[in-house]
Amino acid sequence: MRESAYPMLEFDVALDRVLEHVPVLPGVERRFDEAQGWVLAEEICATEPLPPFPASTVDGFAVVAADGTAPRRLVGEQFAGHSIDLEITPGQAARITTGAPMPAGADAVMMVEWSHEEGGRVAFTRPVQPGDFIRPIGSDIASGEAVLLPGSRLGPTEIGLLAALGISKVQVHRRPVVGVMSTGDELVEPGVAPQSGQIRDSNRFSLIAALREAGMEPLDLGIVPDSWEALQAIIARGLARCDALLTSGGVSMGERDLVKPLLEQGGTIHFGRVNMKPGKPVTFATLEGKPFFALPGNPVSSLVSFEVLVRPALCKMSGLPAAAWQRPRFFAVLEQEVRHSPERPEFQRAHLRFAREVIYASTTGNQASSRLLSMLGANALLFLTGGRGDFAAGESVEALFLGG
Ligand code: AMP
Ligand code: MG
Repeated sequence: MRESAYPMLEFDVALDRVLEHVPVLPGVERRFDEAQGWVLAEEICATEPLPPFPASTVDGFAVVAADGTAPRRLVGEQFAGHSIDLEITPGQAARITTGAPMPAGADAVMMVEWSHEEGGRVAFTRPVQPGDFIRPIGSDIASGEAVLLPGSRLGPTEIGLLAALGISKVQVHRRPVVGVMSTGDELVEPGVAPQSGQIRDSNRFSLIAALREAGMEPLDLGIVPDSWEALQAIIARGLARCDALLTSGGVSMGERDLVKPLLEQGGTIHFGRVNMKPGKPVTFATLEGKPFFALPGNPVSSLVSFEVLVRPALCKMSGLPAAAWQRPRFFAVLEQEVRHSPERPEFQRAHLRFAREVIYASTTGNQASSRLLSMLGANALLFLTGGRGDFAAGESVEALFLGG
């Protein structure tokens, strides 16, 4: 039997090796409102307190708390956005709105709901304590406080904080530009009617979608035939424009599987076989210093190997810490018997159902690596260890939660 020349790595060893060899991309400056999904390359500290002045948290009346419930004379109005020269003394009150600065002399706010106004005077149904319904200076964010840490991905909250603090430009890690090509003489574009022996290319489109979902920038490099020259040409084009390359197909033991020999010639192959199903021939190399992931051609193999080996690497390149890209792992109880061959550890596609106290997993049926439908509706990969056969209904297995 002809055997691959590449040693078979255990999955966790392969992942460590990938992470060891991918660089974190350097920082670039970006406008804060155009940085959604990018990862901060700097710490953000507040240079101003928030709120910048003591502000009312309700609509009501600024008062001197020591006056208790006694009626006060209304001496003015303090609206949000308008700072007037108003001073409150005992026996006086000023109308105030939420977010308006506290007038000098007032030490509390009475809610409008507790007030009763008559003839230029206002009475209250209950007393307040000094400080009630006031947000002191810096009570939300203190000046100098570290607000965002390097490695944070900028989402709605982070972008709001940058706006609130007046930070208009931030240093973010460059987002990996990832070239994607499909290899195979049999492949045609989805819009083309396949001739005898041809199939439509689906991997390129699912991988590009997976890249976008992971926050990366895909670059479509098209379909490449199984020809040494064509592969070389497109890879050279990709290397000139991308931070990492992704191919599918052409990494198995076939006569026309040219990707590994080509990588051997021009770069360094860090592994060419991983003890996992699907995705055994997945290959990782560096070529001109850039990471090169050669994924197997079967649609499920390429997507699963992307998920477990490529996505972590690209997340690291984009500046995210491991805690941010690692998928949550749960133990889940199998709802049905699961077929599994002892020959290799397997990532089975499954649907997790979160019941009140137990997480249940049901697999998505026939797990053939060509059957993209086995990914449909899957929100988890069950990690089934090698060295043992089928799992019984009711057994607990480890699951990587993919979200959704
Ligand atoms: P390979 O890894 O090149 O040996 O391909 C393995 C299987 O996946 C073959 O049945 C291919 O036809 C199929 N395949 C390869 N590339 C693609 C692709 N881009 N889209 C869909 N199927 C593919
Ligand atoms: Mg092929």
